[in-house]
Amino acid sequence: MHINDAVFLEDLCPKFRLRQWRKSIHRFTGKSCIYCGKPSESIDHVLPRSQGGLSTTENCVPACLSCNGDKSDENALYWYRKQKFYDPRRAMAIRAWLEGDLRLALRLLQWANPNFKLKQNYEKDESEYKAA
Ligand SMILES: [Zn+2]
Repeated sequence: MHINDAVFLEDLCPKFRLRQWRKSIHRFTGKSCIYCGKPSESIDHVLPRSQGGLSTTENCVPACLSCNGDKSDENALYWYRKQKFYDPRRAMAIRAWLEGDLRLALRLLQWANPNFKLKQNYEKDESEYKAA
C-alpha cells in the first residue's frame, strides 16, 4: 500500500482515528491519571485549548475526571504544584511528556508508582527504538 493511501484513509474516517489516538494515550500510562495515578477517564489538554493548546499527543495526557475538572483552564504544571498529591517525579514526567519524550515520561511515572507497569506494546516500541 502506498503511504499516501494510508493518510487518505485516515482522513476519510477522522472519528476512527481520534478514537484510536485517545486509546493509545490511555494505554501509555496503563489507564492511570498522569497527575494522581487514579484511573484515567479523560484526556486533559496540558495547555488548555482556550490558550491555544493543540490536540497533539505532546499536549494531551491521560487524566481522571477529578483532576481534569479541577484543573480547568489553569496551567497544568502550576496547578499540579498546588495539589496534595503533588509528586516531583510526576511533574518531571509531565514536562517530559510535553517535550514529546514519552519514553522518559513513562520511566518517571514508573518511578513515582512502583505498581505502574509498562505495557507490552510500549516495550516492543522501545526495543525497536533502541535498534534504530
Ligand atoms: Zn487524577
